[in-house]
Amino acid sequence: MNYKLLDNILEMEGYVPGEQPQGGDYVKLNTNENPYPPSTAVYEAIAEEFRRLRLYPQPMSNPLREAAAEILGFDREWILAGNGSDDLLMMFAQAFLSEERFACAPVPTYTLYRTLAQIQNSKLIEVPFAEGYELPAAELQASGAVLAFLANPNSPTGTMVPPDKIADFARAFPGFVLLDEAYADFADANCLHLVKEYANIGVMRTFSKSYALAGLRVGLLFARPEFIEQLAKVKDSYNLDRLAIVGAAAALRDRDHFNEITSLIKGTRGLLTEELTKRGFDVLPSQSNFVMVKAPEPPGAKAVYLGLKERKVLVRYFEQEMPDHLRITVGTDVEVEALLTQLDEVLKGGK
Ligand code: PMP
Repeated sequence: MNYKLLDNILEMEGYVPGEQPQGGDYVKLNTNENPYPPSTAVYEAIAEEFRRLRLYPQPMSNPLREAAAEILGFDREWILAGNGSDDLLMMFAQAFLSEERFACAPVPTYTLYRTLAQIQNSKLIEVPFAEGYELPAAELQASGAVLAFLANPNSPTGTMVPPDKIADFARAFPGFVLLDEAYADFADANCLHLVKEYANIGVMRTFSKSYALAGLRVGLLFARPEFIEQLAKVKDSYNLDRLAIVGAAAALRDRDHFNEITSLIKGTRGLLTEELTKRGFDVLPSQSNFVMVKAPEPPGAKAVYLGLKERKVLVRYFEQEMPDHLRITVGTDVEVEALLTQLDEVLKGGK
């Protein structure tokens, strides 16, 4: 063999995304996609942009930054667009982490943070959440990390740390605090306003959940202009394609559609919580478009996951991180009913 990859790449495990069956008629409640279609304005904008695919896109995704600036109340210099928020996370890892510099996060959380640190030959210091999924602030602050990844609301738990606690944390954290707000549009509060108050806070949003555009791959980062300017140095030159730029901008501008689908999901979340509680599941208080539940024993989380899968309902099972829990995405009312019908069968069989 006349080639050799870096040792840290050979030794790391690699991120394992949730199952994405192509076909097979599953009720798919495993990767927190939106069950509703995106705004029709997205299709129109993309169809129109098709004619310009011969040309490179605007390198900083300016049409999208301008739409976001207008809708969310920032100047465009405060915004950086990513090819999904995963792309922005990669930029953070590249700009902050090395063998000598590491990140921290409360866990369980989004496991990609660890993977990205490992790619940089760095590491993620993982501090378990405190009782009631409160932030283990002191331990994170004392960890020596230069970057804190805080998914808020968190995945896979769905729980949320309130903005005043986040502000307290950032004041005392000696590095940069990245608030990954992938699920914030389903929450009662968010931390976007903190970006204007604290130079060491960045807030990240995605179009994959509340805008129903997981397939388009768009995320946004909000932070001080001088920070955005530095981070932009590590991005791919044309990280968003033309269709993503105009599609996401159109989605942002259709406030009616956004409000309609997010409130439908919040409503169904209440129904799902109630029905699962009736069936003996402990449901963590969710501020997201999914619920994290502790399965009754017997049959236990793994058996429920496998039983549902056999009956064509996919939910997420985190065997390593939370082996007695399941994470269930909030689908349409019809999907939730299908889930409950199949769940009742599994529970009958498992006892
Ligand atoms: N952050 C969190 C907490 C997530 O759960 C996800 C979705 N897997 C992402 C970021 C990535 O989202 P995107 O589709 O924008 O890359």
